Amino acid sequence: MNKTPLVIGNWKMELSHKSAIEVVSAIKKMMQQETYPADIVVCPSFPSIAAVHASVQGTPIAVGAQNVHHEEKGAFTGSVSVASMRGFITWCILGHSEVRRAEGDSDALVAQKAKLVLSHGIRPIVCIGETGQQHDSDETISVISAQIDMLLSSLDRVSLLKTVIVYEPIWAIGTGKLPDPNEVYEVLLFIRKRIAGHFDIELADRVYLLYGGSVQASNVKQYIAGPGADGVLVGGASIHPRDFMDIVSRTASAYAL
Ligand code: PEP
Repeated sequence: MNKTPLVIGNWKMELSHKSAIEVVSAIKKMMQQETYPADIVVCPSFPSIAAVHASVQGTPIAVGAQNVHHEEKGAFTGSVSVASMRGFITWCILGHSEVRRAEGDSDALVAQKAKLVLSHGIRPIVCIGETGQQHDSDETISVISAQIDMLLSSLDRVSLLKTVIVYEPIWAIGTGKLPDPNEVYEVLLFIRKRIAGHFDIELADRVYLLYGGSVQASNVKQYIAGPGADGVLVGGASIHPRDFMDIVSRTASAYAL
């Protein structure tokens, strides 16, 4: 089936407000000079979301958040509600390993957040993946299966179709350590089969599955070409506009193969 590849930039807590605007302006400029046949999402930190949203008006760039609180509203000092971001974001990263580690988000809470953002018309980007220790002791598939099953038992067909699932081996995030592409294909295939078993093959084919972890322009093709991912979630390289757009170009050309 025909899909447009998806490239998501997770800016983490790397940019000042001024730099966030400069980065998105540079991306916009490059998009005026060249055609990039991919869907692009940028995820600034909370204080820059509204300004980045204003800056991308009239462009194909979409804006996402990096997390959200699991409750609609209430006495949660320091937290950010989905309602406060509504109108500014169309995507929201959930279950990123850095958030799971810092805030203890469980698979059940990630699924709850996915349902919450979907109820506000926002598409979840759900990150799953194993630690280095789990990888080394051959527990990848059992970890992934628990994570994916929680999501599948929480979402209906329409919700799942709006959800993007990102396989991010935790040991590959920000480390420069790259997984064997064959292992990534195996995990992606496992996820698709799990979706097919829960729903059907047609739905499993349509759901977007991405790879994330130390992606650079020089290594992205191996995770996309052939039976690879439908796109990538990029952390470190996404705050450098030229690098990010090189990744977008190479993702699009590898996906077209
Ligand atoms: C991420 O933040 O999800 C990520 C994959 O980071 P990096 O590309 O820096 O490994």
